[in-house]
Amino acid sequence: ARAQAMEVDASPDVTYDDIGGIDDQVREVREAVEDPLSNPEMFAKVGVEPPSGVLLHGPPGTGKTMLAKAVANETDATFIKMAGSELVRKFIGEGARLVRDLFELAADREPAVIFIDEIDAVASKRTDSKTSGDAEVQRTMMQLLSEMDGFDDRGEIRIMAATNRFDMLDEAILRPGRFDRLIEVPNPDPEGIVKILEIHTREMNIADDVDFEELAEELDGQSGADIASLTTEAGMFAIRDDRTEVRRVDFDDAIEKMRDAEDSRSIPGHT
Ligand code: ATP
Repeated sequence: ARAQAMEVDASPDVTYDDIGGIDDQVREVREAVEDPLSNPEMFAKVGVEPPSGVLLHGPPGTGKTMLAKAVANETDATFIKMAGSELVRKFIGEGARLVRDLFELAADREPAVIFIDEIDAVASKRTDSKTSGDAEVQRTMMQLLSEMDGFDDRGEIRIMAATNRFDMLDEAILRPGRFDRLIEVPNPDPEGIVKILEIHTREMNIADDVDFEELAEELDGQSGADIASLTTEAGMFAIRDDRTEVRRVDFDDAIEKMRDAEDSRSIPGHT
C-alpha cells in the first residue's frame, strides 16, 4: 500500500517542447534543478550551493507537474511523485514514515527528482496545532524538514514541490536550505495560449478556418489544462459529426460546452 502512495517513473516522457507559454519558468527550473544535476562540478568549483528545493506555485493546471517531469526526463533522473494529501494519514507516525520512504527510495534510484504535489496539505500555517490531527500533520512536516536539512545539495537528488495555495504555507518550509527557490507558474497569456493550442493539436487534423490567435482571445483566463481538454473536446465534436477534420465550429462548440460547465459550477446548490 505504501508504494501506491508514490508514483515512480523511471523515464518520464514529457519534454520542454510539450510545455507552452511559460518559457521563463522553464529556464528558471533548468537553472535551479537541471544544472546542479548535470554539472555538479561547476557548482563545487565556483563554490556556490545550488538551491535546495524548488517550489512551484500558481493556479491549478498550469504545467507544474509537467515541469518537474520534463526536468527528470532531461537529466535521465527517476521521477518520484508524492501527493501531499497522501502524507496526511490517520495513523500516528505513518506520514513521517512515508516521508522517510520517499527519500530512501530516491537515494536508491538516484539521480532522482522528488516531486511533492499539494505541499500545502502537510505544510500549512496552523491556527490550532493542539488538535491531534494537526499534531500528526505537524510531525510529518517536521520529518520532511529534517530530511531536507540533512541533505547534501550537491547530491544526485533534487526536490521540487507544488502548491495552489502559496499564501497558506508555513514559512518554516521556505527557509534557506529548504524550499528556497520560488517559481510562480501563472495561467498563460494569449500568446502562451496559442502555443498551448499548437502543442495539443500537433497530432490533430485542423481545418484552415481555425484561427488560434482569435481563439486565444476568447480563452483568456483559462489554464493550460483547460486548453488541453478543449482541444480534445473539439476533436470529439468533429467525430460526432463524422468528420476527420476539426473545424472552427468544433472549437466554438467546445468553448460553449466549457462555459456551460463553468456556469453550472457557479450556481449555488447545483451539482
Ligand atoms: P495541479 O496544480 O492541478 O496539480 P499542474 O500545474 O501540476 O496542476 P499539470 O499536471 O502539469 O498541471 O498539467 C495538467 C495537464 O494540462 C497537462 O498534462 C497538459 O496536458 C496540460 N497543460 C497544463 N499546462 C500546460 C502548459 N503550460 N503547456 C502545455 N500543456 C499544459
